[in-house]
Amino acid sequence: MNELAHLYFADAEASYEDAHYAIFGVPYDGTTSFKPGARFGPRAIREASLNFESYDPSTDLDLYEIPIADIGDLVVSKIPGDLVDQVADVAGEIAGDGKIPVILGGEHTATIGAVRALCPDVYVVCDAHLDLRDELDGTPYSHGCVTRRVFESVDDVVIIGARSGDREQFEIARERTRLYTADSVRERGIGVILSEILEEVEGRRVYLSIDADAIDCCLTPGLGTPEPFGMTPLDIREVVRTLAPHAVGFDYVEVAPFDSGQTATVAAKMVREFIARHWIAER
Ligand code: MN
Ligand code: MN
Repeated sequence: MNELAHLYFADAEASYEDAHYAIFGVPYDGTTSFKPGARFGPRAIREASLNFESYDPSTDLDLYEIPIADIGDLVVSKIPGDLVDQVADVAGEIAGDGKIPVILGGEHTATIGAVRALCPDVYVVCDAHLDLRDELDGTPYSHGCVTRRVFESVDDVVIIGARSGDREQFEIARERTRLYTADSVRERGIGVILSEILEEVEGRRVYLSIDADAIDCCLTPGLGTPEPFGMTPLDIREVVRTLAPHAVGFDYVEVAPFDSGQTATVAAKMVREFIARHWIAER
């Protein structure tokens, strides 16, 4: 019989037991406030991943040689608080088995569970939005409350690329986080900002979360809450390349793939970038 296959992230050919990286999808967009569709993100990212060569010239690695498993999509609860618990269970189990969880989203809500399970020293997020609301649409687990919930388990929070939030959220951000707005990334350059961040994270456990809308919506328009005047895919790649070696977990979330594939394509490339840079740093 011919070989048959399910849709896996490209080159994620290891068994879970052998894997050092466990990819899973969280196809959830239950708290979306503007445009729905992020539930289709994980599938779109996997499909986009099939386009790329296994060989990554910048690290001189073939991705298929890295022990990566794609363990599938979470069968998600409709209730935001339960969804967070589900993600925490899965991410905690992966980390408990000595592996690195890599999450494909889906709404940013998933990150709350992953951070709760992994207890990093530093949380670094690229996002157009501050996500610092205490509650949105009746739930504290909305995509608009992610960074606020992260504060409950992590003291050190770095936000890169922000350009949207109300006055109260910006006050909280200026007081309690290291905030690098999208304007400051443009003015100072991502390299300068990353060298500042690197001084802080050296030797510490970092969780890295990329909300797809950190990137300017004119470049990757498949977004639930699009914002212009944002970061570039190259900026995000610099963040991922620089911080992956320090990371205990990674997610790329808020891909709502009703564009021409740009958003999922960048997401798939960043997932590869994260894994390759983390792997080569450990060896
Ligand atoms: Mn977000
Ligand atoms: Mn956002």
